[in-house]
Amino acid sequence: MPASAQSDPAPSAGGGPPRALVVEDERPLARLVADYLIRDGYSVTQAYDGLSAVAAAEANNPELVVLDLALPGLDGIEVCRRIRAQSDCYILMLSARAQEEDVLEGLAAGADGYMTKPFSPRELVARTRVLRRRPRHWTEFDGPPVLRWGEITLDAAAREVHAAGRIVTLTRTEFDILAVLLQFQSAVLARERILDHLWGAGWVGDPHVVDVHIGHIRRKFNEVGQSCPIVAVRGIGYRLGPELGEDDLGEPKL
Ligand code: CA
Repeated sequence: MPASAQSDPAPSAGGGPPRALVVEDERPLARLVADYLIRDGYSVTQAYDGLSAVAAAEANNPELVVLDLALPGLDGIEVCRRIRAQSDCYILMLSARAQEEDVLEGLAAGADGYMTKPFSPRELVARTRVLRRRPRHWTEFDGPPVLRWGEITLDAAAREVHAAGRIVTLTRTEFDILAVLLQFQSAVLARERILDHLWGAGWVGDPHVVDVHIGHIRRKFNEVGQSCPIVAVRGIGYRLGPELGEDDLGEPKL
C-alpha cells in the first residue's frame, strides 16, 4: 500500500489521540513498538507484566492493546481474557512461539489477531491498521430484535441467548456467529460468509477461526444441558440443524 493511501487511526471516542497499551516484558521491544505506534498517532502506555497490564487497561481504556503471550505474572492469554471481559478494544497478540494451539488459544481468549516474533514494527503497524477497520459489533443486523430456533431465543438488543429458559453466556464473537446463523435459519453459510457478516468484507485472517468459536458455542450449550443447534456441513460451512425435532424442520420461526 503506498504511504499516501494510509490514514491515521481514528481519534478515540473521548477526543484526543487514540490510546494504545503495549504489554511486553522485553523493554527494548516494548519501547520499539511504542515508538512506532506513537509515530502512527497513538498515545501509548507500556506495561511489563500481566497484572500491571490488566490494571493499565482498566485505568486507560485503550482502543488497541499489543500483548505479548509470555509475560511474568499472568500470561498473555489470561491478560487477554481479563481485558476482553470488560473491553471491546482491538487486541493484537505477540508470541515467540508459532504453535497453532497458541494461536487458537489467543483467538479463543478474544484476541483479534496474532503476530509471531520476530516481526517488523512496520508490519505490526500495518496489522493494527487492518484490525481497526473491523467493526466491533455486527452492525448489519436489521432483522427482528428477537430470533428463535426451537427452544433457543436470541435477544439482539440485550445480547442474551436463552436455551430452554437457561442463559447461555457467549462472548461477543460467539454471540455474533450464532446471530448470523439464526438470521439465515437452515441455510448453509460458508465460514467466509459468516465472517463477512461479523467483520465486513475485506477482513483478513484464517476462516477456520469460526471452527474455534463454534466449538466454544457447542460446549456452552452442553454446559446448560442443551444440544447446540449448529451443524457442520462438510466442505462448506455451517447451518442450523434439525436435531431439535420435527417441528423445527419447516418454516423459519421468526
Ligand atoms: Ca515476553
